Amino acid sequence: MIYNPEIECAPRPEMELLQSYRLAKIVRYVWENVPDYRRKMETVGLRPEDIRGVADLSRLPFMVKDDLRRTYPYGLFACKMSDVVRLHASSGTTGKQIVVGYTRRDLEMWADCVARCIVGVGGSKDDFIHVSYGYGLFTGGLGLHDGATALGATVIPASSGNTERQISIIRDFGATILCCTPSYALYIADMLDKQGIGKSELKLKIGIFGAEPWSEGMRREIENRLNIKAYNIYGLSEICGPGVSCDCEMQDGMHIHEDNFIPEIIDPDSGEVLPDGEEGELVITCVTKEAFPLLRYRTRDITSLHHGRCSCGRTLVKMSRITGRSDDMLIIRGVNVFPTQIESVLLNAGHVKPHYLLIADRQNNTDSLEIQVEVSNEVFSDEVRKLESLEKEIARNVQSVLGLTAKITLVEPMTIPRFEGKAKRVIDKRVY
Ligand code: AMP
Ligand code: ZN
Repeated sequence: MIYNPEIECAPRPEMELLQSYRLAKIVRYVWENVPDYRRKMETVGLRPEDIRGVADLSRLPFMVKDDLRRTYPYGLFACKMSDVVRLHASSGTTGKQIVVGYTRRDLEMWADCVARCIVGVGGSKDDFIHVSYGYGLFTGGLGLHDGATALGATVIPASSGNTERQISIIRDFGATILCCTPSYALYIADMLDKQGIGKSELKLKIGIFGAEPWSEGMRREIENRLNIKAYNIYGLSEICGPGVSCDCEMQDGMHIHEDNFIPEIIDPDSGEVLPDGEEGELVITCVTKEAFPLLRYRTRDITSLHHGRCSCGRTLVKMSRITGRSDDMLIIRGVNVFPTQIESVLLNAGHVKPHYLLIADRQNNTDSLEIQVEVSNEVFSDEVRKLESLEKEIARNVQSVLGLTAKITLVEPMTIPRFEGKAKRVIDKRVY
């Protein structure tokens, strides 16, 4: 089924006409309402009338996460603050978090996109949709919630945590669609096994999973273990949250809602726009948002675009699974972390050296993070008890500042590799 065939199956020339009209309009809107955008455009000698359509898109300057931090909290908001009806924030960061806002119309647009996603994977208003993404500043919970509500389905707003209770709700309330991170889906499968609950006792038939990278192998495992079809949903807070794109029933790439979000793929080093099929960094331009419309935002997510009509009938461009990041951001149990954030917590603790290694792994379908950090010779030759208490103290700081549970291992001086060029501080053993 297709929720909005007029848009989702629009012939390419029609879609481009719509995008061009909206792009020209949004460029003028931000020029008039966001001084920072105006300055950025003036710096490269651009005026709003220079951007007449999608062919001119690549003339606009890029936006990056630092632009959001620099203008924190409301510097890039384009509408009156009294028209903002919701705020969300990116996960896992503290002083450097970013905040995004939505007008009532922005929320409707977002919910419309998520409703398209749900219908695109075979859902309907008759479904019972169990949302185990976290509710709160994170966009996952409320994003799926509003989309399911817009569709008229029955939402079960479970939020995250307390897996045993989640399972009894899934079973007793008759959930047919499960929305959560792919790693949590596998954790649920483990718990079902542990509790001896058979798949046949559940009515689940579809899973909508995202918010972190995962692989085709993981898709097959989830499908077998939960006896469902598993679909990939993609999004990021800066653009709106989940629902920027989503798999259709073909499971062969995620259709981007390009009437709202115009995608480009660029070479992350040169910034040059790459052709269809080539892998690079995804850049998104929001053309319909009122409160927080980002233009040419560098997502740092690595993927490729594929145009052409899909066997499902949609003409919306597809993006492939995210295969990595062009920066060193890690996602650990749904929390986004940059090595530099961990570094500042480590160094604030004292007694440790700025040589550390982050090792991400996945055990029993749950992400784990080990932080190996060097201490000075004196500290290292101290009593074991003292070392242990320092490890505990650092773990507590990491938990309270970044909201992240990590295993801290203090190591001898000179055991962490040194680098002549860019340091490689992250070892990700998880398979995507
Ligand atoms: P947040 O803004 O905290 O929701 O984090 C957004 C980031 O999560 C994206 O930029 C991606 O790196 C990652 N992400 C979201 N959905 C997916 C997905 N389906 N596959 C891989 N990574 C994802
Ligand atoms: Zn399709």
